[in-house]
Amino acid sequence: MAKESTLIIVKPDGLKKSLTGNVLSRLSETKLKIIAAKVVKVDKELADKHYQHLKSETFYPELTKYITGQIHGENRVMALVYWGEDAIKKVRALAGATNPEEAEPVSIRGAYGRILTSGLFENVIHASSNSAEAEREIKLWFKPDEIVYELFPFKEETVKDATRRVWI
Ligand code: UDP
Ligand code: MG
Repeated sequence: MAKESTLIIVKPDGLKKSLTGNVLSRLSETKLKIIAAKVVKVDKELADKHYQHLKSETFYPELTKYITGQIHGENRVMALVYWGEDAIKKVRALAGATNPEEAEPVSIRGAYGRILTSGLFENVIHASSNSAEAEREIKLWFKPDEIVYELFPFKEETVKDATRRVWI
């Protein structure tokens, strides 16, 4: 198995419950490398793109409320890219099953997740489930300059008269 990369998101419940450190400690068991990390405020547009394949699901409205922080009053997630041998499978195994009640008790979701009264699986982290999904998600969440490795081909663009924020 070649080296590969995977996207992990510590979801709003993870930040609200102050579980980020616990999650990162568990992830370090995989011996994979962190090659990108940032805290992100998720808007509806990013949520829709990230979960585009789930739009027709009955839980979709709750899911977008969840990832945009409306359930926890906490619009912050932590997005990370991990890289290494078999990264996708290793992280999925450590994350545990989607349904926290079915997840191995020692997995991240088994240990820290729960099912809300609405039926939504509050499961602490997202992890890419295959290499096509990983590439799409990493490109959605990170710009080339935010990742320390050159994972995918990129081009350079010169943007004229662009407005951006700089420190005063
Ligand atoms: N989800 C849910 N109910 C379901 C299936 C999924 O609440 O029956 C939520 C859950 O938070 C999950 C997310 O939707 O993590 C994305 O679903 P997916 O099938 O991609 O599961 P994952 O890849 O996260 O294990
Ligand atoms: Mg998924």
